Amino acid sequence: MSHEDCIFCKIIKGEIPSAKVYEDEHVYAFLDISQVTKGHTLVIPKQHTRNLYDTPSEVASNLFAAVPRIANAIKDTYGAIGMNLLNNNEAAANQQVFHLHLHLLPKYSEEEGFSAIWKTHADDYSMDDLQHIAQEINKNVAN
Ligand code: 5GP
Ligand code: ZN
Repeated sequence: MSHEDCIFCKIIKGEIPSAKVYEDEHVYAFLDISQVTKGHTLVIPKQHTRNLYDTPSEVASNLFAAVPRIANAIKDTYGAIGMNLLNNNEAAANQQVFHLHLHLLPKYSEEEGFSAIWKTHADDYSMDDLQHIAQEINKNVAN
């Protein structure tokens, strides 16, 4: 998807209306229309990237630099007792909008809105297995 067709680029430019939570030189944050929980916010870089895979470190740094302040603002405003941070990359991981975004999902109770099912496979891996996997991945970390 080109920048011209990207709905989040249009939101940054004001061509599509949004409920803006925060903005600086590098970052735009606005309420997710789905409001999975009250205050559910999307934090996006002003520079268009598809998702984490094509995002330069500098863009990621500038994006994340704003996150703790936004998270605290949501927490303080509505008294959230917790918060999940979620980032979906590619369709297989439920990415629907192809402009990098972080979901900030405040929690007000155990039951409400968002939960992640965490299926452990710890019993399937020995420490040697884990060391092997870690080394394989490490070899592919770009400098
Ligand atoms: P994804 O599944 O790609 O991680 O999440 C995309 C999110 O963008 C969804 O939670 C959806 O509700 C939100 N979204 C999609 N279109 C719009 C829009 O036009 N305005 C706002 N505020 N949120 C949107
Ligand atoms: Zn975009």
